[in-house]
Amino acid sequence: MSVQHPSPWPGQRPQHPGQPQWGNPQWGNPQRGQQQFSQPQFGQPQRPQQQWGQPQWGPPQQQLQPGGWRPQQQPPQKKSVLPVVIVCVVALVAVLGVTALLSDRGGDGPVVNPQRTYKNEDYKVPTAPDSPPPFPRITYGDVEDVLLRNKLYDQELPVPVRCELTAAPAPGLAADPEALMQRLDATLDCLLRVWGPSIEAAGYTVVRPKLFVYDSPMQNGCGKTEMGNAQYCGAKDDQNIYFATDLPTIFPEQVATGPWVFEAVMAHEFAHALQGRAAILLARGAKYEQAETKTAQTFQVKRTEAQADCFSGAFFRSVEQSLNLGAEGKTTVLNVFGNLGRSTPTPESTHPYQQNRRMWATRGWDSTPLGVCGTWAATDDEVI
Ligand SMILES: [Zn+2]
Repeated sequence: MSVQHPSPWPGQRPQHPGQPQWGNPQWGNPQRGQQQFSQPQFGQPQRPQQQWGQPQWGPPQQQLQPGGWRPQQQPPQKKSVLPVVIVCVVALVAVLGVTALLSDRGGDGPVVNPQRTYKNEDYKVPTAPDSPPPFPRITYGDVEDVLLRNKLYDQELPVPVRCELTAAPAPGLAADPEALMQRLDATLDCLLRVWGPSIEAAGYTVVRPKLFVYDSPMQNGCGKTEMGNAQYCGAKDDQNIYFATDLPTIFPEQVATGPWVFEAVMAHEFAHALQGRAAILLARGAKYEQAETKTAQTFQVKRTEAQADCFSGAFFRSVEQSLNLGAEGKTTVLNVFGNLGRSTPTPESTHPYQQNRRMWATRGWDSTPLGVCGTWAATDDEVI
């Protein structure tokens, strides 16, 4: 799963002799052909102050599904020999039933659940803006802080958060574009509901990426998309997410036919979008240009990818209850990450090898706060 974005630092640093330029596709994803870092058109990072943009989308719209959310778990109705207990249970059911009806009718009220109260219910999931706001501006002096002490790392994603998806049968090796779009869009709702308040609390702007599903290569702000891939394009005028309908073909059959393949990859691509909004991609771009060797550059990309897997795990912890994942579902999701890329450590690969990818997704799932995903503080062995 690639992230493609241009250099934020055009012409500001002397280039190392022989250093690959952004725009030269020479260190592509070996699994899926070449990545291209084109269009070095970022803003003006030489400005001294950081400028955290304001949200620029219009009036947020609640995006409840038709019919609204209904509690999946009913309150206990087991029989009891004590009439008073029965009365209490009946009364409880009645109260909850009325509240649920009111909630459904209101559409945007807090969701009542007999077992738990979901977090972030008052957060309005945004729609995608016509054109995305600029990325934050940072200077070279900010790079280490952004990568090692990002304000996002202090955040802890809330648990549990509502996600209205069911474990659908895998759409097959070539998903129906319309159905896939619908499902991925619902996944995006979940991702934004989980992440939105934390991004804002860290001082960043929440931006809903536009979603593109393609069954033949298409042009975007980063070049031409590839089949068998998903992509976040970080070009400043793009910032959107792209999915090939044949994405499952890159996985072993058992994983490809599992229920959460697209959702897991969507979480990863959305994590790249977060990295864009949190200036991590900009800072990474600076480190990449400063790197002395091609291997050092590649490890900058590996850290970016490992962090996206870790952020993905953190997202799934927030929604594992509403998705009713259980232990089996968790294993299914982690298997997606554990089957991506190389099976052995490969320094020249842009992505960590499978065992490390699973490790980072697990770490994000099992640990808090988001600082556990600070992959720039990790050893090379952890991200190789
Ligand atoms: Zn990626």
